[in-house]
Amino acid sequence: MEKISIIVPCYNEEKAIPLFYEELLKNLKEFPKTVEFEILFINDGSKDDTLKIVKDLAKKDSKVKYISFSRNFGKEAAIFAGLENATGDYVTLMDADLQDPPSLLKEMYQAVTKEGYDAVGTRRSTRKGEPIIRSFFARLFYKLINKMTSIEMVDGARDYVFMKRIVADAIISLKEYNRYTKGLFSFVGFNVKWIEYKNVQRVAGETKWSFWKLTKYALEAITAFSTTPLILASFIGILFCIISFLLILVIIGKTIIFGDPTSGWPSLVCIIFMLSGIQLFFLGIIGQYLAKTYLEVKQRPIYIIKDTNM
Ligand code: UDP
Ligand code: MG
Repeated sequence: MEKISIIVPCYNEEKAIPLFYEELLKNLKEFPKTVEFEILFINDGSKDDTLKIVKDLAKKDSKVKYISFSRNFGKEAAIFAGLENATGDYVTLMDADLQDPPSLLKEMYQAVTKEGYDAVGTRRSTRKGEPIIRSFFARLFYKLINKMTSIEMVDGARDYVFMKRIVADAIISLKEYNRYTKGLFSFVGFNVKWIEYKNVQRVAGETKWSFWKLTKYALEAITAFSTTPLILASFIGILFCIISFLLILVIIGKTIIFGDPTSGWPSLVCIIFMLSGIQLFFLGIIGQYLAKTYLEVKQRPIYIIKDTNM
């Protein structure tokens, strides 16, 4: 017997879970009888009836397992908890809102068992149905992060991945507190097949990602995987030293040739403003890395379990 663990992070998904569960079961029926399943719901501190719904499912269906956090720790923490506790030979991560079509599971399973891949990733080929401004910044983010890091981040990649236990274990072995799972998935390497699909709208409920939350997430991803912003700080610092040196030469020359009428106060003020702005900006960037280091050093747990049937 082979076992597939399906990890589903849930935060306020009371409306989506019943639909998700039904649709998932339909697709699981198409698997050979030798394959067992475990559906592991991670309740990430939901404020609605998510936990109750999951518990009811668990009563009816022994495949259903749950882990409930003591508060909202974020999707990345939920994914980590799922990977750590899943018992399957294969592990897959799925959103509860059916934006990750369960119909792809079979193809993903085939790729890993028959075609010799270690893992399968999915990417959206379109961003249809998403606000234009969000798509624009998402594209910009992928361009930036790919320039800044040595590992490749696939544009439009989802957290919907299917992997062998060995890949899941590799991701768990990265114990960092600031987790950007898509980056960690690229980081561990292995032989990955990418499957494309068209963007699907969420079946029920609302997205948990505001524009502000996404921006913070993007900055988190960049600081977690790249130190390029720090190099940029040194680079711009050197550039401004060179410029100021040239300016000094110009001013000395002018004073010798034309004398010294006191002038240029407005431009001086502008320059001071600009340079202090740049300094504060880079101080902020350094602060970001320092803050991240601070959080890592504390070694707090990534999640805290309140209730489970594992
Ligand atoms: N999620 C979570 N914790 C959070 C936010 C989201 O577990 O703090 C779950 C959510 O329930 C869903 C998945 O992560 O199953 C993806 O969230 P969402 O659909 O809101 O994101 P989007 O698809 O809009 O990027
Ligand atoms: Mg979604």
